[in-house]
Amino acid sequence: MKFLLLIFVLQVTASGAVSPSRHTSVEENDKVVALEKENPGTKMKINENFMENEIQEMQKFLGLKVTGKLDTSTLNMMHMPRCGVPDGHHFRTMQGRPVWKKHLITYRINNYTPDMKRVDVDYAIQKAFQVWSDVTPLKFKKINTGEADIMIRFALGDHGDFYPFNDKDGILAHAFGPGSGIGGDTHFNEAKMWTANFKGFNLFLVAVHEFGHSLGLQHSNDPKSIMFPTYRYVNPNIFHLSADDKRGIQSLYGGPEKHQPSSNPNSTESAACEPNMSFDAVTTVGDKIFFFKDRLFWWKLPKSPKRGTGLISSLWPTLPSGIQAAYEIGARKQVFLFKDDKYWLISNLRLQQSYPKSIHSLGFPDYVKKIDAAVFNPLLHKTYFFVDHQYWRYDERRQLMDTGYPKLITTYFPRIGPTIDAVFYYNKHYYFYKGSNVLEYDVRSHRVSRMLKNDVKFEC
Ligand SMILES: [Zn+2]
Ligand SMILES: [Zn+2]
Repeated sequence: MKFLLLIFVLQVTASGAVSPSRHTSVEENDKVVALEKENPGTKMKINENFMENEIQEMQKFLGLKVTGKLDTSTLNMMHMPRCGVPDGHHFRTMQGRPVWKKHLITYRINNYTPDMKRVDVDYAIQKAFQVWSDVTPLKFKKINTGEADIMIRFALGDHGDFYPFNDKDGILAHAFGPGSGIGGDTHFNEAKMWTANFKGFNLFLVAVHEFGHSLGLQHSNDPKSIMFPTYRYVNPNIFHLSADDKRGIQSLYGGPEKHQPSSNPNSTESAACEPNMSFDAVTTVGDKIFFFKDRLFWWKLPKSPKRGTGLISSLWPTLPSGIQAAYEIGARKQVFLFKDDKYWLISNLRLQQSYPKSIHSLGFPDYVKKIDAAVFNPLLHKTYFFVDHQYWRYDERRQLMDTGYPKLITTYFPRIGPTIDAVFYYNKHYYFYKGSNVLEYDVRSHRVSRMLKNDVKFEC
């Protein structure tokens, strides 16, 4: 009977995560809740057939052998830390298909968990939203005051929404579907240990799941889906949405709005001057500075109005578009270009044979799948590689990755990060690009010396 009680508690707690006004609970949970109402305090009298059906349903849902009995694998699944929103089948949208009727959605982190550094919480939350914005037309903006669409809280026990957390059950968090007021809000159970790594519960991974609910997705029974109800650690650096998740969220919002640059370089010359223009990669090439974006590049001379633009393929026909990082070793007339896990060498402006090579040959661990930005420091003969919120340092003389890396960008480059889009070195300064902002960083004094705008840098 102890087991019957367990499954009952699980289902009730699951149903408890949904606002009663939102009618999003699934039928099984409604049944359980109804039972509770009819027979208050008689949990033990639930009839056995009903429970057997319930167990079968759950086994089906979790992809276990359907026995109707609480066998070891079922019990293991039941005890797995999980989300407190009821289960669905494959990807599912919430009843009534609630969605946000706008594409710019605000969020606010109302309080922070003492388990993690604030900057790591900010980063995990931002990255979790980015997972969804990458595959939809949605954009997420963090606000620090006032009422945001999605209010995020770490809460203990009873926290004012009738769905108290307790530290005995496995509920990690819950979230409300799109809507005004509490709609979209996400609550993390403070009784759990939140981390930025594999220990305890990785906040990023749980946040991706909960924000799926905040956007209108229900649980999926596809074990590869992030919307699967139980927690499973995967390395956040290699995390990606499953096909089921993408289908689910795109069934609500459609795919991302692609910014397609014109194939005619003449008409795009001024695009680099757009105030919100961001770049994929920037590097010096000889006396010029090259800016890469999608299929295009722009160049300019540092202290002159002279500039130009073209298709990357017009200079290097076999090079792919969408270069993600680039750096130059000026004294060797070498330029290295990176995309995904490959890199190319351009020497004296010629693309070298025997490339592309794997970035892993440079000493990156397997989980690094792409480089965000790279820059060579000729004073130290070292190359810095920026990957997500971390960086590596490569010794160009020894041709080896320095030990002790990766390190956090925010820790060793004050005011830079947590992530960057591009960086180049010029005249004892780094120029860090993030969105449309450019930070000039003094290499010798290790501090930001100026904040610029792309268009200023381009002298538009
Ligand atoms: Zn959930
Ligand atoms: Zn709550």
